[in-house]
Amino acid sequence: MRRRFMLPLALTLSIGASAVCGACAPKQNIAYTASVYPIYCMLLNLTRGVPNVSVSCMASVTAGCAHDYQMTSDDRRLLADSNVVVINGAGLEPYLDSILPTLSGLVIDSSSRVELIQSKSEHGGVGPNPHIWVSIPRAISQLETIASGLIKVDPANADLYSANLSAAREKLRAQFDNMRAALAPYEGARVATFHPAFDYFAADFGLIVAASLTVDPDTPLSARELAGAINILNEQPARALFVEPGEIPPSAQVVQSETGIPIYELSSAIYPMVGVDDADCYIAAMDANLRTLMEALR
Ligand SMILES: [Zn+2]
Repeated sequence: MRRRFMLPLALTLSIGASAVCGACAPKQNIAYTASVYPIYCMLLNLTRGVPNVSVSCMASVTAGCAHDYQMTSDDRRLLADSNVVVINGAGLEPYLDSILPTLSGLVIDSSSRVELIQSKSEHGGVGPNPHIWVSIPRAISQLETIASGLIKVDPANADLYSANLSAAREKLRAQFDNMRAALAPYEGARVATFHPAFDYFAADFGLIVAASLTVDPDTPLSARELAGAINILNEQPARALFVEPGEIPPSAQVVQSETGIPIYELSSAIYPMVGVDDADCYIAAMDANLRTLMEALR
C-alpha cells in the first residue's frame, strides 16, 4: 500500500492561503488519509489531477477484515499529521473511536448517508453491517459524501473534485448495471457466505444468503454454530459458499465436506490486487466477482 509523505500539523491551518496570495506563497499540501483500502481507492479517484494533495492509507489489512485491525504508532502519527481523515464508518473501525475526537484535522464519515442493513453481529444478535462499500450503490453514496467534504476543505479545486466524482460515479453505475443485467437470471438463488461482507452484495443482486459462517473472518465459529449452519444448508441447499480470496478457512472446508456445496472466492475489495492500480482496484474486484458469480450460479 502506498504511503506518501505527510506534512507537519503546523500546515493544517494554511489551507486556502494560496487562494489569497497564490503568487507570493508556496502552495501548501493537503494531506488526506483513508482509514481502510476501499476508502483509499475512492480518495485516489476523487483527487485525480488535483494539485497539492497527498493521499495515504492507514490500515494495511492483508488478511481477514478491518474489524480487528491493531493500530500502530505509525498509524497514530499518520492520523495526527493528516488534514483530513476519511473513514468508512458504520462501525467498521472501532479502533478509531478513541482517537478520532483527539484529531485536529477534519474527519469525514463516508457512511453518513448510507442505508445500513442488519446482519449477524459479534455478540450473537443482529446489528448494522459495516461492509457498505461492497454494495456499489452505497459506494456511490460514500463517494458523494467524501467529495462534498473535499470540496469544503479545498474549494479552489471544487471543479476538479466534481468532475472526478462524475467520472467515478459513471463508472460505478455502468458496472452495477452490467452486473445486475448479468445476474438477473439468478435472482432468488441461495448462497452461503463465510463473511457478512457479502450481505450487501447479495441484497443488491437479489441473492439469498442462506447462511453466513462468521461475523469476522479472524474469529472461528463455535462447533454449535457450525453445526447449525450445516443443518440449514443440508435442509435447503445453497448453490455456492463464498469465501475471501486466500486460504480457505477450516470451517468453510468442513461445511463443504458436510454439505457438498462448492467453494468460490469473492473479493470484498478490502485488499490491493497484484498488478492492478489502486485507483482501479474496486472495479477490478467487482469484475472478478461477476465472473465468479456467473460460474457459481449457472
Ligand atoms: Zn468484515
